[in-house]
Amino acid sequence: MEVIQSFTIDHTHLKPGIYVSRVDKGFTTFDLRITEPNKEPAVAPAAIHSIEHLMATWFRNSRAKEDVVYVGPMGCLTGMYIIMTGEYTVEDMRQLTMECLEWILTQDEVPATRPEACGNYLLHDLPMCKWECARYLDRLKNDFHCEYTKLQITLEDGKVFADA
Ligand SMILES: [Zn+2]
Repeated sequence: MEVIQSFTIDHTHLKPGIYVSRVDKGFTTFDLRITEPNKEPAVAPAAIHSIEHLMATWFRNSRAKEDVVYVGPMGCLTGMYIIMTGEYTVEDMRQLTMECLEWILTQDEVPATRPEACGNYLLHDLPMCKWECARYLDRLKNDFHCEYTKLQITLEDGKVFADA
């Protein structure tokens, strides 16, 4: 099995921000990195589940709604994936995400938290969701990162192999 592209990124130097992790077949995968991997606590499962419901609701009602393919949490619980069609830059996604986070901070409930609408409807935590969103919003505004640190491996013959 080949090592997939996202596992070659050096996650020990990855700062919270927004990254393009893949561009293929007209789809762009944006990594919305909320916490610093392996350095800060990951987002709690209930909080990221609430982020998913709220973020998906906002993006699918936004001016970009026709281009939103997928919104979902990372398995490592350090961020969200958003897959878009069309031409979106990291800066476009930063603006959209900041608007989304501002909206989340005004919400008093998580949408679709009924057993008919959600596979684990008790696993929600709006206060922690808002805490994470407030911190992420501050980071997008004041300490924004969007460039991957490439993983570099120096081979025995001295050649440097880099990938990201
Ligand atoms: Zn759900």
